[in-house]
Amino acid sequence: MENKNIEIIGAGLSGLLLAYYIFKNTNKFNVTVYEKNSSIHKNKNFCFWLEKNKKFEFSELISKKWKNWYFSTPNDFVFHKSDLFEYVLLKNDDLLSFILGELNRFNNFSIIYDNEIKGNYNTGYVFDSRNVERNNWKLSQIFVGYEIQTEYKNEDYVTLLGNMQYCPELKFNFNYILPIDDQSLFFEKTVFTNDDLNYELIEEQLKIELLSKYSSFDIKKIEYGCIPMGYFNEKMNNIGIPIGVRAGHYRSSSGYSFHTINKNMKIYADKICLGKSFNKKPIHFQNIIDDHFLKTFILNMDQFPEVFLNMSRKIKPNDFAKFMSSVNLLSLFPMIKALPKKIFLNSFML
Ligand SMILES: Cc1cc2nc3c(=O)[nH]c(=O)nc-3n(C[C@H](O)[C@H](O)[C@H](O)COP(=O)(O)OP(=O)(O)OC[C@H]3O[C@@H](n4cnc5c(N)ncnc54)[C@H](O)[C@@H]3O)c2cc1C
Repeated sequence: MENKNIEIIGAGLSGLLLAYYIFKNTNKFNVTVYEKNSSIHKNKNFCFWLEKNKKFEFSELISKKWKNWYFSTPNDFVFHKSDLFEYVLLKNDDLLSFILGELNRFNNFSIIYDNEIKGNYNTGYVFDSRNVERNNWKLSQIFVGYEIQTEYKNEDYVTLLGNMQYCPELKFNFNYILPIDDQSLFFEKTVFTNDDLNYELIEEQLKIELLSKYSSFDIKKIEYGCIPMGYFNEKMNNIGIPIGVRAGHYRSSSGYSFHTINKNMKIYADKICLGKSFNKKPIHFQNIIDDHFLKTFILNMDQFPEVFLNMSRKIKPNDFAKFMSSVNLLSLFPMIKALPKKIFLNSFML
C-alpha cells in the first residue's frame, strides 16, 4: 500500500517537532516540510520551566537548570524558590541538530528550503506554522540581548523581570538576565509595546544598564527578537490545520511556548497516526481568559511594574511556574487571584 502524504509549512519548532513525533510513532507517512528560508534558524535558546522528576523527551539535551528566579523594580525585589519546578535552558542548536539527525534517517522525510508557501494549498494533511502577520498581534515583545563575558562572578539565579519600569519612549520594559556559567551571561532588554520596532532605542538603553552594572565586558553574541502576544484564532487565513504559535499553542500573555508546542505536537502526531480528524476551529476558552489578562495589562501598562512585583509576592513560586509552562484554566486562576481585582474587572467594561 502507498504511503500517505503529510505536508508541514515551516521548519521551526512546531513543524519539526510534529515531524519528529510522527516518525517516532511510525514511518508509514511521506512527510515534507516547506521552509521559506534557505536554512533552519538554530541560533536561539529556549528557556522554560520543567517539573522535577517528570519525564521530558529531550532531558538529555538540557544544558543548564536554575532553582531560583527574581523580580525587581528600581525600589524593591522578590525572590522565588521552587521545590517542584526548575527553569531550564535548551539550546535550539542542540535540539534541532538532534531532531534533524533523527529525521534524516528516514527516506520518506524531506525538507524543501527556499520555498515560501502562499495562498491556498490543500492536499490531505497540511499543517501550517507560518508566522502570524504583525497587524494581528495584540502586543509585541521586542528585545535585544547580549551574551557577554565579564570579570565578575555571576549570581546563580535567573532575573526574569528585573528593574521593571514604564517610560513613554520604551513603554513597559525590564531586564532578563541568564547566568550561563561563572563569568558569562545573557543580558536582555525587553520591551512590551504596540509601537513600531525600534531596536536602536532598546539597544541604547541596554548598553547604559550594562555599563552601570559592569565596568567592562566582551560581547560574544547579539540577539534581536520580536515575539507576538495575544491570541489570534478566528482572524487567521490558514492553510490546512494551524500549529505552533499560529494555533495558540502558547501562553499568549507571556510569549512562552516551548512546553505547549511540545505537548500539542505529540498529541497531533498521535492523532495523525490513529487516522483521527482535526477540528479546525477549536474553542480555546483558556486563551480567551489569558487574552483578557493581557488586555488588563495593555490598559494599565504604566502601573504594571508595581502590579507585577506585588503579584510575584502573592503567588506561590510553584503556581507561577505552572502558569508560565501550561495553557489551561487551572494554572490561570492563582495568577488572576493575585491581580488587583479592580483593574481586572474594569477592563471587562472597556
Ligand atoms: C528570539 C526568540 C527567542 C525565544 N525564546 C523563547 C524561550 O526561551 N522560551 C519559549 O517558550 N519561547 C520562546 N520564544 C517563542 C517561541 O517559542 C518561538 O517563537 C517558537 O519558535 C514558536 O514556534 P513556531 O513553530 O510556532 O514558529 P517558528 O519557530 O517561528 O516557525 C515558523 C517557521 O515557518 C517558516 N515560515 C514562515 N512563513 C512561511 C511560508 N510562507 N512558507 C514556508 N515557511 C514559512 C519560518 O521561516 C519558520 O521557520 C522565542 C522566540 C524568539 C523569536
